[in-house]
Amino acid sequence: MKYIFVTGGVVSSLGKGLTAAALATLLENRGLKVTLQKFDPYLNVDPGTMSPYQHGEVYVLDDGAETDLDLGHYERFTNVKLTRMNNLTSGQVYQTVLNNEREGKYLGNTVQVIPHVTDEIKRRIHNLAEQSKADVIITEIGGTTGDIEGLPFLEAIREFALEAGIGNTCFIHVTYVPFIKAAGELKTKPTQQSVAKLREIGITPNIIACRCEKPLDKELRQKISMFCNVSLEAVIEAKDVDHSIYEMPLMLQRERMDDLVCRILHLTTPAPNMAHWQEIIRKLIAPQHRVRIGVVGKYIGLQDAYKSVYEAIIHGGVANDCGVEIVQVDAEEIEKNGPAKILKGLGGILVPGGFGERGIEGKIIAARYARENKIPYFGLCLGMQIATIEYARNILKLDKADSTEFNPDTPHPVIALLDAQRKVTKKGGTMRLGAQPCQLALGTKAAEFYGAFVISERHRHRYEFNNAYRERFEKSGFVFSGLSPDGKLVEIIELKNHPFYLASQFHPEFLSKPHQPHPLFKGFIAAAHAHHHSKPL
Ligand code: GLN
Repeated sequence: MKYIFVTGGVVSSLGKGLTAAALATLLENRGLKVTLQKFDPYLNVDPGTMSPYQHGEVYVLDDGAETDLDLGHYERFTNVKLTRMNNLTSGQVYQTVLNNEREGKYLGNTVQVIPHVTDEIKRRIHNLAEQSKADVIITEIGGTTGDIEGLPFLEAIREFALEAGIGNTCFIHVTYVPFIKAAGELKTKPTQQSVAKLREIGITPNIIACRCEKPLDKELRQKISMFCNVSLEAVIEAKDVDHSIYEMPLMLQRERMDDLVCRILHLTTPAPNMAHWQEIIRKLIAPQHRVRIGVVGKYIGLQDAYKSVYEAIIHGGVANDCGVEIVQVDAEEIEKNGPAKILKGLGGILVPGGFGERGIEGKIIAARYARENKIPYFGLCLGMQIATIEYARNILKLDKADSTEFNPDTPHPVIALLDAQRKVTKKGGTMRLGAQPCQLALGTKAAEFYGAFVISERHRHRYEFNNAYRERFEKSGFVFSGLSPDGKLVEIIELKNHPFYLASQFHPEFLSKPHQPHPLFKGFIAAAHAHHHSKPL
């Protein structure tokens, strides 16, 4: 078993997660079995209760774990299936240590950060090693070197490396080499200082990945090599990619990072064959077609809030050799100014997941506009509930139909709390979470897109279609194309006589990858492209 640790320096948002994921792509294509793990220094047990403004999207795994969005990158860049063991927070570590203490497992001892907290962190790495049977584990430490809360994690991986022995661990430090306009040059000092900080903690990086806007010339590489005590070839240029994050594996390959990692870890593997990946990049850079998709949400301008949705849309584009321009539409703008101007010229409209009342009416207007104007509509989770409410109000004429989440006193609760949720009082980890099977109805668009009758998709919700209204909907031509195997829960709805009006209670975006675009996103983009070109813009 080999271990790679990825740390970050200077500032956050350097793309440590993407670097880890892109390296994993290369290692996987060298024939290695890889898994990835993220350590998050915050005290929340998981990010499930955090606002997207704090944390960005919550990424859900098959086993129902609510995790950091970097795990989304890990799954998208590889073929790895992650579980709750792949995301560890300080909150979880302390919870375990404190429970152990109450149980008397440390009887007689003073419980301390070293060794009790650090031991627990190391145990989690060993557990994943055992469970995953991977050849290589890439562990990313969240936060920036020097943060107080990250220190126990750094101490733990320092000890871990010592115990694992020479040739079994590789430390990669991702830093920033800023371009200072006034001087007209890249500056290495922040990198030197953050490496110095890391060495003070007892970790000497084997590889330094330098995020930069301009190419890193030989002189700068030499300087970093000299001052940071790494060989010249271990100073990797990680320049901003031109078009797409999916260029990163190819960029790291050009810098021979995977080769170097394999040498450090004494792994003998053939060079990766990245031909399929190059074809994906070709489609991203020079697609044959183009389409514009509107995402109607409330966390607009916050790039991370709908991360997986944006990525899955792009994958749907790859599947159709179609470049996608994503237009972020603020649902509250639609409430203020009406839909026509804002939604004009879009090939398709997507309403993603969400919680709370703000922006709901704007989304309902958008769904109506898409239905009436035969613009492809794709609803995800909340987006399905929105489509249902819109249909109830405007076709079934159920006055003030709503979800009880937004109006507990609605006369027509077409969306209501799941039965299993009625007794739930605690907020953390209590939604209907993770992979659930779903049966598709014959002759529906859903069944056509999937080419299957039983599928599995990931969920994260408390509310659901209210079965008391099923007959009324069905009679008017509303199609329930996906149900839970017991028939009790509506999972997919669609409309006939519309080029694409489909919405799911689950989150298909979590299962899409550039090399395996999700069938529903593929179908949506195909329909959106057809719509785009059926009309002058
Ligand atoms: N708020 C809705 C629910 O809890 C939708 C959740 C979501 O979109 N993830 O059911």
